[in-house]
Amino acid sequence: MLHVFFATLAALVVMTHSATAQAPEPIRYTLRFPAPHTHYLDVEAVYPTSRRPQVELMMAVWTPGSYLVREYERHVEGLAATAGGKTLTVAKSAKNRWRIETGGAATITVTYRVYGREMTVRNNWVESGFAMLNGAPTFITLADKTPRPHEVRLDLPAAWKGSATPLTPVAGQSHTYRAEDFDTLVDSPIIAGNPVVKTFDVDGKRHHLVLEGDPSLFDADRAAADVKKIVEAGKGVMGRLDYPHYFFLNMVVESGGGLEHKNAFLTMSSRYTTRTHRAYVNWLNLVGHEYFHNWNIKRLRPVELGPFDYETEAYTKGLWVGEGFTDYYGALLVKRAGLSTEPEYLDELSNTIEQVQLRPGRLVQPVDMASFDTWIKQYRPDENSLNTSIDYYSKGAAIAFMLDAKIRKATGGARNLDAAMRVAYERYSGAKGYTLDQFYQAMSDVAGVDLMPWFADVVSSTNELDFTEALEFFGLRFTPVDLKTARATMGASTRADNGRLVVTVVRRGTPAYDAGVNVDDEILAVDDVRVRADGLVARMDQYKAGDRVRLLVARRDRLVTLDVTLAPEPGRPWRMQPRPDATAEQKARLTSWLGQ
Ligand SMILES: [Zn+2]
Repeated sequence: MLHVFFATLAALVVMTHSATAQAPEPIRYTLRFPAPHTHYLDVEAVYPTSRRPQVELMMAVWTPGSYLVREYERHVEGLAATAGGKTLTVAKSAKNRWRIETGGAATITVTYRVYGREMTVRNNWVESGFAMLNGAPTFITLADKTPRPHEVRLDLPAAWKGSATPLTPVAGQSHTYRAEDFDTLVDSPIIAGNPVVKTFDVDGKRHHLVLEGDPSLFDADRAAADVKKIVEAGKGVMGRLDYPHYFFLNMVVESGGGLEHKNAFLTMSSRYTTRTHRAYVNWLNLVGHEYFHNWNIKRLRPVELGPFDYETEAYTKGLWVGEGFTDYYGALLVKRAGLSTEPEYLDELSNTIEQVQLRPGRLVQPVDMASFDTWIKQYRPDENSLNTSIDYYSKGAAIAFMLDAKIRKATGGARNLDAAMRVAYERYSGAKGYTLDQFYQAMSDVAGVDLMPWFADVVSSTNELDFTEALEFFGLRFTPVDLKTARATMGASTRADNGRLVVTVVRRGTPAYDAGVNVDDEILAVDDVRVRADGLVARMDQYKAGDRVRLLVARRDRLVTLDVTLAPEPGRPWRMQPRPDATAEQKARLTSWLGQ
């Protein structure tokens, strides 16, 4: 007992001492925009060296949440270093690294310029009116991996009055923020310009809806009120809000996409988003998805997704949970918040199921491997992707739907996927992360049955999903869309390219695939009569399934004739609707699932 006491005391003394002695000094960045219309920002960074003769600087090559090596350093130019007014020797030591001779200086100052003209949620955009900055493509850090604070001061053009970021503001200094470490910096987008900002509180937490770009037609007040309802619906699922504050950063720039962060998300939308119901619900579904990530993947994550090595791929088989379950909840939060109708929600879920079921690649790639290979497949789609790969967003969401029904059924409606996600969150959130076996165990514990064999089947095999149980439980059925006249089709997708009719995708198992129609073939004629770029559908209407047609195509300018036997259009059998004969019990389960 005594021995333990002394040991503990000694450890405490050592810890206290080292905490004081080694409190790492921050890196201090100043960002300037002397000519934003040229899409450049200037970075000045002051690095502590601990008086080492050499320091190595590193730039991330990818951004968490967007799983592709993107080589951000290609947009960096003019990197130079000084100390005490003297120029230092800089040598590039890798594609994304720089080695600097410090001359023994305690701090060195490095300047560089970053070109920002990619309107995506994973890169930078700088223009005359505003800047949208992400951490990975902007901030070069010390490569030594010592956790240290990073401070950012924005020196804004006179006409830019505002900035918004989930980073912690430094008291008393305008547009100055602090990240406790590099991970936080990378995880915190920065918007500067003249954003429209709407704030609201839920659970004592401040939430900011930030609109930049051209929000003049965007109904910010209505959007903020509805986003608040989504926050409340999310809290209804997970039971707690663990962020200090949350920033909904939405760029109104006629682009799309979204990326999750721990205390924020960054999305892109059209200026007309709030003007039509359909576009608005689509945006709210995106909001629901990216916001739900604050729990699922940012705080409750597959064990492989952190801490990150920003210079190499992080392989995980868990993105069908991280993205798929998030996708399931995204639209569900919107429905439960009363912002979409039951038919709209079921339509959205039907789209998800249809994406899985009409994709030939579902029979080739298990969804856990789609996650593992995201670096070479999901984020590098090509003309053959539909045939060889499955999408972990849609298949993961379909699995979440089936699992939700399974847990409800197994527990007589006492528990559901919400409860299971809360249990997983309690067990594995924070620094821990989960292995897939641990995740399966948490789900099984809540369901009260061993779900391992079921997970093995739906996650790690290419067996067809069986929706029977889920449909039966909620009193739903698939009602095929009535196609009126079942068209004849050859099964190739085409695009009009300057008046040319060009094949873009040839799905496996279609007449076009079997007949040897190739991607990039230019279709010139059907049965010796020319077909124009916009005329293929009308021409196919001249035929019925089973007819044999002669296709004339140009392939690398040589004319090729192909005989194709047309098939009936596959139709849309995966449209989910309530059964007209659903029992009162089934109807009650549907209401319990989707809300009123
Ligand atoms: Zn996502």
